[in-house]
Amino acid sequence: KPEINGDFYSLGQTLAPDDHEVLQRVRDFMETEIRPIANDYWNRAKFPMEIIPKMAALNISGLTYHGYGCPGKSALLEGFVAMEMARVDASISTFFGVHSGLAMGSIYLCGSEEQKQEWLPRMQRMELIGAFGLTEPEVGSAVAGGLTTTCRRVGDEWTINGQKKWIGNATFSDITIIWARDLDDQQVKGFIVRKDNPGFKAEKLEDKMALRTVQNALITMTGCRVSEADRLQNANSFKDTANVLRMTRAGVAWQAVGCGRGAYEAALKYTMERRQFGRPIAGFQLVQDLLVTMLGDLTAMQTMVYRLSQLQDGGTITDEHASLAKVFCTLRMRSIVDHARELFGGNGILLQYDIARFVADAEAIYSYEGTKEINSLIVGRAITGESAFV
Ligand code: FAD
Repeated sequence: KPEINGDFYSLGQTLAPDDHEVLQRVRDFMETEIRPIANDYWNRAKFPMEIIPKMAALNISGLTYHGYGCPGKSALLEGFVAMEMARVDASISTFFGVHSGLAMGSIYLCGSEEQKQEWLPRMQRMELIGAFGLTEPEVGSAVAGGLTTTCRRVGDEWTINGQKKWIGNATFSDITIIWARDLDDQQVKGFIVRKDNPGFKAEKLEDKMALRTVQNALITMTGCRVSEADRLQNANSFKDTANVLRMTRAGVAWQAVGCGRGAYEAALKYTMERRQFGRPIAGFQLVQDLLVTMLGDLTAMQTMVYRLSQLQDGGTITDEHASLAKVFCTLRMRSIVDHARELFGGNGILLQYDIARFVADAEAIYSYEGTKEINSLIVGRAITGESAFV
């Protein structure tokens, strides 16, 4: 039987031997530690805390950052890592993306030297876990101008008031990066908020139908006091927040590739094993047509994110580059998981076949880090010179 491999153009083979070795470690970890437990934790909406030390041993947190104990690898490798994780379990890749990308990335890009020294080494070793609080109950797509969470400085302390919704990892994270509007200069500022802060409350969002393993929280901050030393010293406006999002949005496009690849590979395997009318269903023309459509989409997505990461590594990536990949890859991912689920027939809705989880999780990846519409408008503004936002 032919090998089941969604990397049809062998893009993974272009990685250097060292990078290959990192990727192989991630692949082994996902197959041996995560795949056997993924559906059970997803079903119970619990996070497997026991995997954190094993994940830490992979030495992949803050993969692209230089210094502070971080490996200083390429964005391309980081993309492949995100794909490998999502290929098995998008919840685990989301947990990791929030910690390593959004939370560590905020400190790496917006923290002072002292703050980086204080937080990044321990976060790299995953002794401390991070979360990232930007979205609010009433402000999602419009965060750039619309944040209602406020902060005000009095002496050497800031007081934060407001709510944040959907905040991944925040039920157990040691720190959460909170973005709030300064009542004095009206600019958005970032804060490292510790979990034991008396004014900080994180409640789990229950009954989610996607990425159930990820613990998302509704955060309420009432007179939450944070010292000036824990304000991100180089976050002076929403532009700085946007720098973090540009970096992580590329990662979400890679996650979409991973989710699509996992679904395609599961469907291909299933069609080769499942027999109807006396032969494997993979032998039917209509089934092959669906598989090839999926593979075409998957290959286009992979080559797109590959180039996106090269732009990132070359320092020429723009918001619209990242947004186009997020839009295109999440749309194609949705189509792939839909076709994959079709090929499983009735079994496609049973959790034990994995595919139902991929279908559900794709819906969250489709919406977070900017919806299709918002990312389309970012690209639309760039190619037409006309902003649809105002
Ligand atoms: P809304 O902004 O209310 O949008 C609703 C609909 O209106 C969408 O279709 C949208 O595209 C459309 N729309 C809005 N404005 C326009 C416009 N101008 N033109 C056309 N259409 C428009 N946030 C965090 O800060 N931290 C996290 O860790 C985090 N994790 C998440 C995890 C999950 C599972 C999910 C689902 C979300 C998470 N988010 C997180 C929030 C996420 O980024 C937001 O859900 C997303 O940005 C969309 O915001 P919204 O849900 O409020 O939708």
